[in-house]
Amino acid sequence: MNRRELLKTLSLSTVAVTAFKPLQALADSDTKPIVLSTWYDQHLANIPAWNILKQGGNALDAVETGVQVCENDIENCCVGLGGNPDRNGIVTLDACIMDHKHNIGSVAALERIKNPIRVARLVMEKTQHVMLAGQGAQDFAVSEGFELQPTDLSDHAQKAFRNFQKKNDIDYINIEKKKDTNTNKPDYFNVNGFNHDTIGMIALDAQGNLSGACTTSGMAFKMHGRVGDSPIIGAGLYVDNEIGAATATGHGEEVIRISGSHLVVEFMRQGYSPKEACKKAVERIKKHTPRNLNKLQIGFIALNKKGEFGAYSLQSGFDYAVYSATLQNEKFDSDFLIG
Ligand code: ASP
Repeated sequence: MNRRELLKTLSLSTVAVTAFKPLQALADSDTKPIVLSTWYDQHLANIPAWNILKQGGNALDAVETGVQVCENDIENCCVGLGGNPDRNGIVTLDACIMDHKHNIGSVAALERIKNPIRVARLVMEKTQHVMLAGQGAQDFAVSEGFELQPTDLSDHAQKAFRNFQKKNDIDYINIEKKKDTNTNKPDYFNVNGFNHDTIGMIALDAQGNLSGACTTSGMAFKMHGRVGDSPIIGAGLYVDNEIGAATATGHGEEVIRISGSHLVVEFMRQGYSPKEACKKAVERIKKHTPRNLNKLQIGFIALNKKGEFGAYSLQSGFDYAVYSATLQNEKFDSDFLIG
């Protein structure tokens, strides 16, 4: 049994256990501290985050530490340097972080650096800017003592890239033929099916402060230079300490189109529950995307100031993990709009 199958089996048994619990009641309880993150497959990331929170540590340290579990996991298809490369065979990483004081930091298209989330935090804390991209982001990381890692792809990424090349001829002619039926534009996302494992993590600490982090290697086999929603504050992540926090995963172009995570937080400000706020954002995507909806997947998770949480996705299959004093890294399946 490989790691993914094992995790799936483990998560199925968790579903069986949680199925008997009143999930909505749990979701409505006044809870802090609490941490949640996208995709149950990546729930191990919540453990170091929870360990910080339960000792009274702050949400910013918790999320920054937590998501590094995925960045450091060379087997992870979609986060960190082990992730799938772009269509030039280069792994480019996107990440952002936001704290309870509206401090923000972000890196985009960062190459050969192991922990983009740490670089994002340094951009936030040490520069007068909020976002560094490409070579400049890498130069900054190196100046802060990060080591340049080799350019080699992980074993699984190499295999995936070879399959991609085989299927599409390296000159991408076949990809160009796979047009989105609505826009008549090339449909890169669907070359290898859905492939979404970005980790977005949001937390509320014992002091009642919220923070969030989001990190990814982005869409597999994207165009070189493509940046998704994950490093974009307001799209892949947003935190407003008066209201709540939200983060996104899935087709970044659609999340950017509606400033997704900011929108979720604004819906919570209007009084919607975290789940309803996520649902309304997904509906907004449905309304505005020019693309064929059936071929997209987008998921949001959200957390409000009271520690209530929720999620919503476009299609079935989106899950997330929650850790609090009462929820021991439990799996929740998101409701969805279509499919
Ligand atoms: N949101 C990420 C991106 O668009 C990808 C993902 O979550 O799968 O780069």
